[in-house]
Amino acid sequence: MGVCEQSPSYVRAIAPYLPGKPISELAREMGLDQKKIVKLASNENPLGISPDAKAAIRKALAEAGRYPDGNAFELKAALSRRHRVPPECLVIGNGSNDLLELVAAAFLAPGRAAVYSQHAFAVYPLATQARGAKSIVVPAKRYGHDLPAMLAAITPETRVVFIANPNNPTGTFVSGTELEDFLSRVPREVTVVLDEAYAEYLPPRLRYDSVAWLKPFPNLVITRTFSKVYGLAGLRVGFGLMDAEVADLLNRVRQPFNVNALALAAAVAALGDREFVARSYRMNRAGMALLERGFRSLGLDYIPSCANFVSFCVPRRNGEPRCGAVYETLLRRGVIVRPVGGYGMPDHLRVTVGTPRENEKFLKALKAALDS
Ligand code: PMP
Repeated sequence: MGVCEQSPSYVRAIAPYLPGKPISELAREMGLDQKKIVKLASNENPLGISPDAKAAIRKALAEAGRYPDGNAFELKAALSRRHRVPPECLVIGNGSNDLLELVAAAFLAPGRAAVYSQHAFAVYPLATQARGAKSIVVPAKRYGHDLPAMLAAITPETRVVFIANPNNPTGTFVSGTELEDFLSRVPREVTVVLDEAYAEYLPPRLRYDSVAWLKPFPNLVITRTFSKVYGLAGLRVGFGLMDAEVADLLNRVRQPFNVNALALAAAVAALGDREFVARSYRMNRAGMALLERGFRSLGLDYIPSCANFVSFCVPRRNGEPRCGAVYETLLRRGVIVRPVGGYGMPDHLRVTVGTPRENEKFLKALKAALDS
């Protein structure tokens, strides 16, 4: 028997996460010029990194020979001011992905269960399975979270519920009122992870104050990220807001230096660059409207999205799926989007909202792919 067989069967059964194809890989595979490739596959900020964050990294580089501040004092202070919570209620992660893993490490184990929705973000099943816990997957309602059904799905073994709002890859959204009602009904011994990776893209009329729920609901963990509107996906910084006792627990299972020094410095600067965030938001709204018009003029169904990406349906031809072929044609034309078959959506592709030029290039390539 080899050493791999010694790994718990639940670990060996994990299906690997399939990331968006990197630009360099496509360039190598197809002999394309990297500069001409448009990557709309991983919901990154098309404006890239903010100038303030770049400057902060340059400055922090001089001290990169030292370990980072494992307690992220400065970033916590800035976040504490922004969100009006004590620093003890914050946990900083290597991306918000790290926070999802920390919650799983702290609360899940064999014999326990996590509830999440069909079509929900891929890391929920991964984090659950890696701990040997059971997944309770609740059927989605029009691609979105069915909160009453999720509530009903909670069993005595359930320790965690994951909710992404907006959800990836569907872009669907549940209102603040629905969430608050859900929280008031969930048993207090069940941790509710409210994953708000895309919250900054919500239009003002849909926004809600989840931080205000931390006091009445100490079982709530809110996760946020610097990877999206703040433009720091490559640096890996996210954070969680939660009850101080829960934060203490998560910090015990956290690697002591889980977030690197350049990322910490960049995050403080990015948080302060409100103009960049506002510009990113506006560009996303305009780009989303352009993509929606494009889909309509191509006669394609899409799932209305509240985030910085949108999933659209590639119609079958004579009953035959065409998603894979359209994805490949887009690649050959230098446009990378994301297949979402792994999310139980075999006829959809997900595209991130890009710059105006990128969006136009995508729509043109999509039209050509559908016509071929
Ligand atoms: N939650 C959701 C819903 C996401 O889509 C993503 C990124 N794809 C993440 C969390 C994790 O992002 P990060 O680790 O970069 O913060």
